[in-house]
This record gives sequence, structure tokens and C-alpha cells, in this order.
Amino acid sequence: MVTAGKPQPLDAWEMAVSQVDHVAKLMNLDPNIKEVLSHCKRELIVNFPVKMDDGSTKVFTGFRIQHNDVRGPCKGGIRYSPGVYKGEVMALAMWMTWKCAVVGIPYGGAKGGVICNPKEMSRGELERMTRRFASEISIIIGPEKDIPAPDVYTNPQVMAWIMDTFSMTRGYSVPGVVTGKPLAIGGSEGRNDATAMGCYFVIEEACKKLGMEIKGSTAVVQGYGNAGNIAARILHDKGAKVIAVSDSRGGIMNPDGLDPRDVLAHKEKTGSVVGYPGSKPVTNAEILEIPCDILIPAALEGVITAENAGNIKTKIIAEAANGPTTPEADAILFKNGVLVLPDILANAGGVTVSYFEWVQDLMSLFWDAPEINTKLNRIMTTAFDNVYKIAQQYKCNMREAAYILAIGRVAEAYQLRGIYP
Ligand code: NAD
Repeated sequence: MVTAGKPQPLDAWEMAVSQVDHVAKLMNLDPNIKEVLSHCKRELIVNFPVKMDDGSTKVFTGFRIQHNDVRGPCKGGIRYSPGVYKGEVMALAMWMTWKCAVVGIPYGGAKGGVICNPKEMSRGELERMTRRFASEISIIIGPEKDIPAPDVYTNPQVMAWIMDTFSMTRGYSVPGVVTGKPLAIGGSEGRNDATAMGCYFVIEEACKKLGMEIKGSTAVVQGYGNAGNIAARILHDKGAKVIAVSDSRGGIMNPDGLDPRDVLAHKEKTGSVVGYPGSKPVTNAEILEIPCDILIPAALEGVITAENAGNIKTKIIAEAANGPTTPEADAILFKNGVLVLPDILANAGGVTVSYFEWVQDLMSLFWDAPEINTKLNRIMTTAFDNVYKIAQQYKCNMREAAYILAIGRVAEAYQLRGIYP
């Protein structure tokens, strides 16, 4: 829920803990378990030197923070950003614990980060920094312990370097130490589309509950990167009319519908969706208020607030982005009958296919894309149903319900395992 480098109204970690406090009251959580869950289990900070291209040596600071591993090894991405800070990484680690628990995959949560500006570094500097960071955190990561993945400004190549570095310390190849790897070295089919595909599966379930058809519905997508453009493409292929999309430079609208593949080709050619032939320009603020059936925020956190929530005219909001809706906005949307599919459910397809990648690496047996999507569909549909039932039972919104499900699963694991010694 935090963009590195951007001033935050509330420290990310404080906000993450206050969410646990809120849900603990709703579900009557054992205060002893709440106490455990309000801390990160392990926090590693490393300061490490890297030889730069100009011959100088620069010391970088990095973090690997494990919130919880009671349900299985920790899982979570690594971000490279000038503004990444410890509280942010702690909060992101906690959110990963909940995300994995909501979809019922056997992982706890972790997150990592290095304070750096990858846009100003050469490929060689990035590789040396990544390898040294991987070596520094190799004491706590591993296929049975903690499995990193890509996040902001890290990608399959960075994962390949981490896998190689870790493997060198062991003396044999360990593909299961990271996910999001290139296919050639143990990556999974379907990983690229996973977040958008998972988001689509929960939208499909939400439509069934609301008696809506995807075919013929209208959709608006804010953000046209990995999550957003693929979500637009899938919805279009399923018969929805994608009437507006945007990226950091602005948005475009066409009430007759846009062709997402053609829009992507335009963005790849010109650098933005803006200026797409036959479309009308809209701002990133206006795009959220366009009347539609399905709204997908797939860019930044904190875009749906108390100021604009009342003007949103949609039936379903599917949070492909992390943290797009503020708690005040949540309350307004709930009152107005908008069904919000919260981030820890709606974008959990990414970590779910990461889990499939890890399983395939451990088995050395690989599935094809249809098999991956069938398994993903089953997990996302089940998670949606579980969350929806809790929302009905507690008469709460889907976010609170998702947290009740997630925290309940982690609490159950503690009750069964007990507190050591
Ligand atoms: P990305 O970098 O591929 O794309 C981000 C998009 O948002 C770009 O099109 C960018 O132009 C646009 N954008 C940036 N600033 C904007 C602004 N002010 N207004 C409108 N658009 C703006 O990133 P992504 O991987 O698609 O991630 C998007 C969101 O989804 C993030 O919140 C991320 O945490 C979340 N998410 C992604 C994945 C995944 O697997 N990709 C998984 C879980 C969650």
C-alpha cells in the first residue's frame, strides 16, 4: 500500500498493525495470537559493498523481513527502489502472510528490498548488487525457508541471478529458491498472466453473485502495465466492452469499446495509451468515475478515497493493484452497494502461480498453461466463495471478510502447533 519515496500519511507498518487490530475485534481473536501476529518474526538488515563501474565502492542497504512462517515457508517479492524503508518492507511482509492464507497456499509472508535507483545503474552494477545481496540474505532464504520473487523494479533476470548465486553457495542448482524465473531455468507457464487471470476469475464469481454477465458488461482499467493490460485483454476476450484505460500519462475512453491488444501496440509504439486513434482523452481522476460495471484499479495505491468514492458508479471494483482503496472509501463504497474485491484476494493469482512454480521446481515436473489455469481457477474460485460466505455471515465488506479468513487460518495454525517451547 506504499509507493517507495512518496510521503505516507501513516507509517505502512502502523497501518498494517491497525488492520489486524480492527479485524481482531470483529472476529474476537485470542489476544495472545494477536500479539504474535503484530510482530515480524525475523528482520535482517544488510549493508554490503558493491564495485561500481567507475571503480568506486558503494555500500547499499537491503532488507529481508519474514513476518510469519507458521503455515509454511515465507514468500514475498524483492523491490529495488530509492525510497524503500524498513516499515514498508515489514508491512508488505505481513500483507503477504494474509494473501497466502486467503487463497490457502501453504506459505507465510516475507518481503525484501534494496535502497537503490536501478534506473541509474548499469546492467553490470545491477548484477553485482543483486548477487551480493543474494549472498547476504542466503542465510535466511531457501526453498524450505523463504522464497523471494519479483516486485517493483525486479524481474525474471534478477531472479535468475539470485538463483544462480544461491546455487553457487550450495554447489548444485536450486531452482526452488526463487519464483518468477525465466522459463528456461525452471519458471512456470502462466506466470506472466497470473495476476490478471486470477483477478478475472474472482470477477467472474462476483458477477454470478450479482446476476451479471461478463459478456456485454462494461469495464474500466486504471494502469496499463502487467496487471492492467492483461486484465483488459482477458475481459475483452470474454465479451466485455473495455470502455476506458489509462497509464501514468493519462487515460483514453471510447464508449463503443477499445481493442486492448491494439491499445497495447499503440502504447509500445508511442510510450503511452494516450492519443490512441478514435478515443477521447480522460484524466486518471476522471477515469475512476466513468459509469461502468467493472472497475479495475491496476496502478497505484490510495487512488479511491473519501473524496471520490461517492462518485464511483460501478458494480464491482477488483483491486489488481495493492492498496488502491483507503479505509474511509471502503466504508462509502460498502454503503453504496459496490462490491469491492480486495487486493489480498483479487491480485493473489500472482503468488498462487508462484506457488505452482515452486511445486514444479521441487518435483522437476512441469505443467502446461491449461493445467496451470485450471488449478488457478479452482484456488481463486474457492477463495472467493470462502470470503463471500464470511462477508454474509459477519455482514461485513469483502476486505474485512478476507482478513477474517486469513487471520483465522494463521491463528488456527498457532492453536494446533502451540507456542514453543
Ligand atoms: P507495471 O509497472 O507493469 O504497471 C503499472 C502501470 O500503472 C503502468 O501502465 C503505469 O504507466 C501505470 N501508472 C503509473 N502511475 C500511474 C498513475 N498515476 N495513474 C495511472 N496509471 C499509472 O506494474 P504491475 O505489475 O502491473 O502492478 C500494478 C499494481 O498491481 C501494483 O499495485 C502491484 O503491486 C500490483 N500487483 C501486481 C502483481 C503482478 O504480478 N504484476 C501482483 C500483485 C499485485
